[in-house]
This record gives sequence, C-alpha cells and structure tokens, in this order.
Amino acid sequence: MTNDTVDVLLPYALEGAYSYRLPAGVAAAPGAYAQVPLGTRSVLGVVWDGAREPPEGKALRQVEHVFDLPPLTETHRRFIDWVASYYLTAPGNVLRMVLRAPGAFEGPRQRIAYQASGIEPRRPTPQRLRVLRIASEGMPLMARELQELAGVGASVVKGLIGEGALKAVLLPGDAPFATPDLEAGHLPLSREQERAARELRALIARRGAGVALLDGVTGSGKTEVYFEAMAAAIAGGGQVLLLLPEIALTQQFLARVERRFGLAPGHWHSDVRPRERERVWRGVADGTAKIVVGARSALFLPWARLGLIVVDEEHEPAYKQEDGVPYHARDMAVVYSSLAKCPAILASATPSLESLLNAEKGKYRHVRLHNRHGRAELPKTSLIDMRQAKLASGTWLSEPLAEAIGATLAAGDQALLFLNRRGYAPLTLCRRCGHRLQCPQCSAALIEHRFRRQLLCHFCGHTAPVAQACPDCHAEGSLVPCGPGVERVAEEARSRYPDARIAILSSDLTRGANLRGMLTAVVKNEVNLIIGTQLVAKGHNFPHLTLVGVVDADLALETGDPRGGERTWAIIAQVAGRAGRGGRGGVAMVQTYLPQHPLMTSLVAGDRDGYFGQELAIRASAGLPPYRRLAAIVVSGSDASATERLAKALRARAPMAQGVDVLGTAPAPIHLLRGRHRWRLLVKADPAINLQAYLKAWLADVTPKGSLRIDIDVDPYNFL
Ligand code: ADP
Ligand code: ZN
Repeated sequence: MTNDTVDVLLPYALEGAYSYRLPAGVAAAPGAYAQVPLGTRSVLGVVWDGAREPPEGKALRQVEHVFDLPPLTETHRRFIDWVASYYLTAPGNVLRMVLRAPGAFEGPRQRIAYQASGIEPRRPTPQRLRVLRIASEGMPLMARELQELAGVGASVVKGLIGEGALKAVLLPGDAPFATPDLEAGHLPLSREQERAARELRALIARRGAGVALLDGVTGSGKTEVYFEAMAAAIAGGGQVLLLLPEIALTQQFLARVERRFGLAPGHWHSDVRPRERERVWRGVADGTAKIVVGARSALFLPWARLGLIVVDEEHEPAYKQEDGVPYHARDMAVVYSSLAKCPAILASATPSLESLLNAEKGKYRHVRLHNRHGRAELPKTSLIDMRQAKLASGTWLSEPLAEAIGATLAAGDQALLFLNRRGYAPLTLCRRCGHRLQCPQCSAALIEHRFRRQLLCHFCGHTAPVAQACPDCHAEGSLVPCGPGVERVAEEARSRYPDARIAILSSDLTRGANLRGMLTAVVKNEVNLIIGTQLVAKGHNFPHLTLVGVVDADLALETGDPRGGERTWAIIAQVAGRAGRGGRGGVAMVQTYLPQHPLMTSLVAGDRDGYFGQELAIRASAGLPPYRRLAAIVVSGSDASATERLAKALRARAPMAQGVDVLGTAPAPIHLLRGRHRWRLLVKADPAINLQAYLKAWLADVTPKGSLRIDIDVDPYNFL
C-alpha cells in the first residue's frame, strides 16, 4: 500500500473499507475522519487500517477532506470490527452507530441558529407554520434542529430563511465540560460499602481489563459504592461511562451524579437535542467529558481514554438492541473492557444468570452487599393464593390485598400496585360471535387504551378508534374487555378508594416532563396510590412507599421465554424493593395462581441464590444459555408462501455439525408483524463451537429476493 492511498470505512452495509487517493501533501492516519465521494454523494467515513492492496488498474477517487479531530482510537476500531464479526453484520453498520452526531464535524466554532422574525411567510402552509411555531418558542435553533423537531425537509426551512421569516443569530461555541470534584458529595460509607469500594478501587488501580459484578439487594447503596470506583478512575486520568437501561430514569439519576461529582455529567440518548449530542460527542472524543451517563448507544461514542464502564441494572433486557445491529450493550461493554484494558462494573440486585455464572467461574470478581443501607429493612414478602380469592367478575384485587391498601392509605402512607400490562384490557372479544379485535398487520391483539380513547397494537403501533360494534358480526355493544391492564386496575381502585389520590405510571401516560412531574408528586407524597407497569420497577426512590401489591405475578412465567423465571424474579424483587426505603419498613403482597412454584416460595423466603441456582440447573439440563449459545434466524417476507418456502429451504441446507442443533423451522409466535410473514429457526451451540463461522458457512450463498429477508440474532432475548 502506498502513502497516497487510504482505506476508508463508510457507515453503510458494504463489504469492507473502500480505497481512496489522498490529495498531495495531505496525510491521514488510521482513525482520521474523512469526507469522501461515494456515487454521486459526499459521505463521512473513517480511515481504516489493514494493508489491503488498492484495486489494480482502477482509478481511485480522491479524499475530499480530512477533519481536524482526534482520531478514532485503535481500540475503538478493533471494537467495531469485533462487534461486526460477532453479530454478523457489516462493519459500516457498526461505524454508523459511532457517527451519530453529524454536526459534530462542523467543529465547536460559532454557529448560526434561527428564530422567528415576526415577518409572515408568503405561503403559510402547515409545515411552514409548524417550523415558525417551534422557532418562536424561546431558544434559537439550528436549521437541522428545526427540521428535525418540525419533521419537515431542508427546503421548508431554507424557504423561510430566504423570505426573512426566520432570522439568523450567532450561537456561542460549546460550553466546556467542567472538571469533576471527586470529593464533592462523597458520603461516609458503611463498613460493608467500604469493603466493596475497596475491592473496586483495587480493580481500577490494576489499570487492566477486569470485570466486577456488584451484587447487592435494592437499597444496599451500590450506587454510592460504584461512585467511589468512578472517582478512582477519573483520578487516574480516565473517562467514565455510566450506562443505564432506561432514559425515563435519567433525570433523577443525573441530579444524583451531579451532587456527587459537583458537575452536570454528559448525557447521551436518543432524546437529547442534536446540539447537546454534538457537544458530548466532541467532549468524549477530545477527552474533556470525564463522565457520561447514557443509554446503551453511548458505548459507541468515540472514547479518547475510557477508564471505567459501569453498567447499572446489568440484568435489564433493555440493554439488548432489537433493531439495526442487534447488540447487547452489557456484553459489548465487557468486550470493550477487554480490548481497551479498562475495568467494567456490572451492578444489579438481581444479576443475569450469565453474569452470575461468570462470577461463579471466577471470570468476574463477585462483590456483594447484603444489607440495606441505614435502618431501612427489606420488605417482607407474602403470597396471596388466587385460587382461593373468589374475585367478583371484573375485579382483580383479592380481599387481603384490598384491605392492606385501605389500611396503608388510612395511615397516610403510600401503596403501589404493579401490573406489567399497559392499557385497559389485553383482549377485547365479541360476546356474540367470539371475534377478537386484532391488528390488521400483526398477529397480535389490539389493546384498548381508554385514556387515549384508542385501540393500539403494542407490536407495530397501529391505532384504531375504539369500536362500538363488532367488526365481524356488526352486533352493537357486544364487545367486552377481557383481563386487566393498569387502567382497569385503576378503575377498580377508584371505586374502592374514592378518596385516594391515584397516579398511573406507564409509558403511555408519562413522557418526559410529564413523567418527571408525576415522580416528583410521588416523592412529595401528593399521590398516595400508584398503579404502574415496569416503569415503576426501577431506580426510583419513593420514600413514603410502604406497601407494594403485585397484581399478577404469573404473567411472565409461562410465555415460553427461557428467561421467563429469571425475569419474573427480577421484576418482582425490584418492585418490592421500592417499598420501605424511608426507614418505616415495607411489605410486598404477591397475587399468584402458582403459590407452590419454586419461584414463589423462594421469593417469600428471600432466597435468591437458591432460586437462581435451581434456574441454572434447569438451563444446564435444557442446554440453554449461559451453558449453550443461541442464535435466532428470522425469515420474513410479504408473501406467505414464498416466506415459508425460503424458511424450509434454509432449514434443509443447515450444515450438520457436532455440538450444533437447529430447531425449527416454525412460524414465529407473532407470525405476522407489520404485514410481514415470519418463520423462525433457533440454533443451539456448545460453547466451544464457533457459532459465527457456522452461521456464515450456512448462509453464505443465500440471497433472499424481493421482499424476503433473513435476520440473524446472535444471543437472542426475543423469541416472538
Ligand atoms: P442501590 O443502588 O443499591 O439500590 P442506593 O445507592 O440507591 O442503593 O442507596 C439507597 C439509599 O441509601 C439512597 O437514598 C442513598 O442515598 C442512601 N445511601 C446509600 N449509601 C449511603 C451512605 N453511605 N450514606 C448515606 N446514605 C446512603
Ligand atoms: Zn400491529
């Protein structure tokens, strides 16, 4: 390879990097960001390494521009290659996740933003008016932001600028990132916390790869403990990434980080405004952003010198990305840690079986906290046998639970009812002909949402007005809701406790500011009965909460998901863990039709290790993760028979291999999704097998035609 050619990896699904010629006198080392021509476009890429001979006799096109930015590190480039080969995707698809702040390349110079000038546009189209409304609400915004927020094309904004309806204002450059104050909000630790913190500090001091599983009951003060490790990593000159599973949680959490380190940390997820995203991106790349709190995609930011990754609530399925590159952020954090020789801390009160087994094998250091911090006690958990409950029709709360709620409210305390089902009822049936309301594009029920006055498909988002007559037999008033969602439980609660101040917390009713408002009301005890989905299970501190009722503990147990038991335990333990944090004790009451189930009996006994041990044994004998590895293959297409044919043809050519089993093909449980027919195959492989090589060999010469598609999901979490 000569000095005047470079390979540039582009953020697209291409085989590999493309070769380009460098203009005379321009140098570009691996990792440099470069603008290059591709077809008729000009695109951004990264100079890649690997001495590939430039294609013979082909005139190379020239690099247009090399950006004056810190290069993407060697570690990061190897990480991108690693992720691509593990998930069997093009490296460009992974690179695209790194380049998610296009404006960052304009540099932190002064930039132009726009405000409504007060001049009326000549043609007041709805699109134009939308832009102007947004442009008149306070802060000046850049053209790209206006476009994004108003959902219009570039020409709409340009037109308004041309007519003078938008006026330009110069924005100052980025606010620099402050230096953390490592002692700012340091709390004296309990003896148990101090011991754990010491172990984590030792891990940081070794300055190598290494993973700790920080395993402690809810409220044991894990956060304060990993804050100590973060302080040690920053003191050693590193940056820290703190991953959280849910963005709904971040506000309360950011405030806590701010108190601890005396600065607002960088903040990264899909709802962060573009300009702030660009600032964080640059701060991460030049090393000035010392602490970033983010959702899973923050792992792909162009870290200059990552000194520690913390994965909070490491067991959360939200770390698995379901579309695009289907990566698992906790697993990839561990990979990054080994490539970058930086430690990682996985924190949870209910670790995944994968992590527990790694700790058991000694691959992870197991750091445990057994007690709740201070005088707070873990809630006492009891079961309510629903087989004896004799519920009146259309009600869901057993007498013992209903009485306990009444007593809690009367005492001026807070109660929480948990049901992991959004909407009013999970199913609507016609009493006359038995027809069930169904999404036209998915094999899934349409769920009634009374608050929104809509029927909603939870798989594709399809909405329809609430039906008065049965769409099949046209009988009037014959549709009946079956089963409860949170809205229906709230209805029952309202009639039982007319004076209660009730809040429903579910992702339908609570977005952004709204959710923050509701959480504040809960913390201030302005609300005394909370009814919520799993949104309430995590992270929040509700100091007045003393009673938690689980409306249906069996929901996730019998779904056929191999992680159903583990998930159920985690969710119930997390929700129950919301109670009694204020130091006044707490109680959890769990309604179940399976009181003899080992999960239920161990819950009452508080015997997590016992239950997880049993689960591990079941997984081992069933050949499931973490003992054997899985890959799911989903064949889909808009034509039912072509899809089935391809799935069966694929099955027929599965290579025979020792240690690999191929299950299926079978129609997927959701066999129609967004109008596409779906068939599934499941591959189970022994740990010694190179699963990627097996899949590659199998699928090498298969090119699905027309609307057909083959999606591979390595380490799947979704079996629908
Ligand atoms: P976890 O992350 O294990 O659920 P947290 O770190 O959120 O636990 O701690 C639970 C509660 O106890 C929080 O309100 C926290 O502020 C408080 N806490 C934890 N450690 C200490 C400490 N050393 N001193 C004072 N308060 C603490
Ligand atoms: Zn649908």
